[in-house]
Amino acid sequence: MDFSTEDKWHWKWNPDGIFSVKSLAARIGRKGVPDFPVQQVWNPISPTKASFLVWTMALNKCLSKENLVSRGIQILDQSCSLCGCSAESTDHLCLHCPFLAQLWNHLLKFLKVCWVMPRSVKKLLCCWHIVGWSKKKKTLWKMIPSAVMWCIWTERNRRVFSNKFLSLEDLTQKLVGKLISWLSVAADFRN
Ligand SMILES: [Zn+2]
Repeated sequence: MDFSTEDKWHWKWNPDGIFSVKSLAARIGRKGVPDFPVQQVWNPISPTKASFLVWTMALNKCLSKENLVSRGIQILDQSCSLCGCSAESTDHLCLHCPFLAQLWNHLLKFLKVCWVMPRSVKKLLCCWHIVGWSKKKKTLWKMIPSAVMWCIWTERNRRVFSNKFLSLEDLTQKLVGKLISWLSVAADFRN
């Protein structure tokens, strides 16, 4: 045995031996949660902070009002911070909120795609595939859920914590800006 070198940590689920949340999530996704959309959640082009957010949403662990109440936190107004109509659950915020339905509709109409929103974020990510498109357009398509959810969540937090509101038009502009910025690092879009 060679005692001249110092002991060191080695994370066996990452090829370089270094711990990362992504490798842990992939491991949990494969072993712990059947049919979990690992590839869509941990999209390598999305920033890690966005992937982490999508991961918590797919597992319904993000701190929506409904999840906070289920953890014993008292909230007087449990209605959605964006539309004020329904209880603020993760699935309502991301998929079924009437305010954000307009955002999804604008986007899907622009891309000329007919889409019916499934019941949950996890189901959306599991079926978020498109056929017959170029590689470049598929890269864009794959990026959309994380960019939309990032914009939704930051707008929700803006309203809750800063009492500031973006209009639907401004939110749409922000979403387009995020998509352009995130896609600019993808090999297909670099130039
Ligand atoms: Zn709503």
